[in-house]
Amino acid sequence: MKVTVWNENCHEKSDPRVLELYPGGLHAYLANVLKCDDIEVRTATLDDEECGLTQAVVDDTDVMVWWGHMAHREVKDELVEKIRQRVYNGKMGLIVLHSGHMSKVFRQVVGTNGHLSWGRDQNEIMWNLLPAHPIAAGIPDHFNLFEELYCEPFYVPQPDELVFGGWFEDGFIFRAGLCYYRGAGKVFYFQPGHEFCRSYYNPYVQRIICNAVKWAAPNDIGYPIENGCPCIQYKLSDKFDQ
Ligand code: ZN
Repeated sequence: MKVTVWNENCHEKSDPRVLELYPGGLHAYLANVLKCDDIEVRTATLDDEECGLTQAVVDDTDVMVWWGHMAHREVKDELVEKIRQRVYNGKMGLIVLHSGHMSKVFRQVVGTNGHLSWGRDQNEIMWNLLPAHPIAAGIPDHFNLFEELYCEPFYVPQPDELVFGGWFEDGFIFRAGLCYYRGAGKVFYFQPGHEFCRSYYNPYVQRIICNAVKWAAPNDIGYPIENGCPCIQYKLSDKFDQ
């Protein structure tokens, strides 16, 4: 499976604390988490030509992982449409992390303004709400994080599957792990990953992201959706005319 981890890589350049926490940048750290025998990982950032996501790279990606925050607007609409089409055609899964809830990619693919409320970094209990789901494999009924507060209402469509829920020490709650089926593709949003927090060091967070990549990988759909309806493509109706 081929995974592309995209990171805007902006906080890394403006605050040395981020690079100290995630040497090489969040993309490099996440790529390392995902690398295994079955998964080939490449990284891409905003500074790369065409955001590192040329047609060839997008066409060669089975699952894209997206981290962005301060530069959402700099991602070109044409690129977002390219990604949306590939997801809807069932050729690529999409994993959106943390502040990616406001990215053009998440908003366009899922269909939302992405808005939520937020506040100070604090203790969070991540609750496993759907233990039978493949993304929850190996995850206990709850685990603890120290994270930026994200809280409801989160203005997203009702998820197709709600896998994790966050409770924060100030009393707020958040739908933290959401699955969406869009067209023939799969999308997972996961809340942890504030640039100053250590959540990506947490083995359960790592396991969830790995599980999500495997879950979101495209099915081997038997016909090319981008060329139109299969009954037109293969002229199935012909046999009734004989
Ligand atoms: Zn954040």
